[in-house]
Amino acid sequence: MENLDRYWRAVQQAVCVKCIDSDGAGTCRLSNDDACGLRAHFSKIVESVLSVRSDTLEPYLEALRNNVCAHCKHQSPDGKCMVRGQLDCGLDRYFPLVIDAIESACAELDETPEAFGD
Ligand code: SF4
Ligand code: SF4
Repeated sequence: MENLDRYWRAVQQAVCVKCIDSDGAGTCRLSNDDACGLRAHFSKIVESVLSVRSDTLEPYLEALRNNVCAHCKHQSPDGKCMVRGQLDCGLDRYFPLVIDAIESACAELDETPEAFGD
């Protein structure tokens, strides 16, 4: 996805820096196997967030569950996720912050003159 790196940097600066599983500077301390869905599914997360425009969280959550959680190895066919249940998925824990970071980055990218764009 175009500009994925810029979205990632925005989320890292707004979300990962505040995460209990980061080193405090935005670098995740979890191994790839343990990492929250944020890194593993990032491109789908950006697409899902940008497909919604709403003042409420529910439509974003629905898009996340349908487009990301449904394909995540941690979710069972009946839609349950033990990781989420134990508040161990940073993506789920900080999802409102993730939405804000992606929408703000999108607005900034829209305002970036083409000559200075990617
Ligand atoms: S667990 Fe997820 S939200 Fe937390 S620092 Fe790692 S990638 Fe970021
Ligand atoms: S909430 Fe569960 S199913 Fe959804 S991304 Fe996180 S670990 Fe995967």
